[in-house]
Amino acid sequence: MKLLKGADVAQKINERVSAEALELAGPLRLAIVRVGERPDDLSYERGVLKRFAALSLRTIVYALPADISQADFAAAFLRVNADPDIHGILLFRPLPAQLDEEWAMRAIDPDKDVDGISPVNLAKVFAGDPTGFAPCTAAAVMEMLAWAEVGLKGREAVVVGRSLVIGKPVSMLLLGEHATVTVCHSRTQNLPAVCRRADVLVACVGKAGLIGADHIRPDAVVIDVGINVDTGGRLTGDVNRHAAENAASLYSPVPGGVGAVTTAVMARHLLRAARRQIKS
Ligand code: NAP
Repeated sequence: MKLLKGADVAQKINERVSAEALELAGPLRLAIVRVGERPDDLSYERGVLKRFAALSLRTIVYALPADISQADFAAAFLRVNADPDIHGILLFRPLPAQLDEEWAMRAIDPDKDVDGISPVNLAKVFAGDPTGFAPCTAAAVMEMLAWAEVGLKGREAVVVGRSLVIGKPVSMLLLGEHATVTVCHSRTQNLPAVCRRADVLVACVGKAGLIGADHIRPDAVVIDVGINVDTGGRLTGDVNRHAAENAASLYSPVPGGVGAVTTAVMARHLLRAARRQIKS
């Protein structure tokens, strides 16, 4: 079994982003819009700030109060959206219950939507149109497979999870590479048998250890995307590590896998977004 480490893939992407960002006049700026102080958001934010600073990309955090009204949130969001000095926007979700997340997804400028939440960008992912921004984690899974030179044409890919954030877009991107894709969810019957068909298994559920020895076909490629915290406060994925290490030919674990690549893809998206905005 070979470990597919996110840091190796991210490094390659980051080197190119750093070099190409230098060619642009002026700094590249990402706005992070965060409502409240959820520990998950703060931890993601720290990661983005650190990794973007290392690439000399600017990050501006708009921290809004957890009890903000929809009207005030909308006004703040539209100001960021229209700011010509902001090239990309990352909105942390889920938003608190009093806010309309659908409104934000429709309102975000598709050209600044570096994490692919706008219906315009999602439609492009589904249409196989590469001019949009795919959700970064879905794109990151594809970067990892490409980096490891995993052939996808005609292979069986099984994705566990069907959210718009990761399961559905990664399924479409795999289909775009001519894999035969099966998408599983909470109502899938006999999940282990379906997963065992996979040459490439992508787990994006959010249930620690859901994928075990009876889900992994010998020599499968296993990409864990799930993020869970165990009872000891440690970060863990959806895939049982021991099972993957025993059966898989290539395994991307959590932690140590797709997370770093997700941020690297976001940096590349920011570069693309800035290039377009500076030209237009
Ligand atoms: P989500 O919206 O809660 O979706 C979870 C999906 O898993 C749903 O489609 C659900 O099915 C399915 N599911 C739930 N229980 C299942 C079961 N027992 N068997 C099979 N499928 C089951 O979560 P998400 O936003 O897609 O995120 C998924 C995981 O990826 C989370 O752990 C999240 O933290 C992680 N994530 C990581 C990154 C990263 O950068 N590393 C980025 C985004 C997300 P139904 O549709 O039937 O409910």
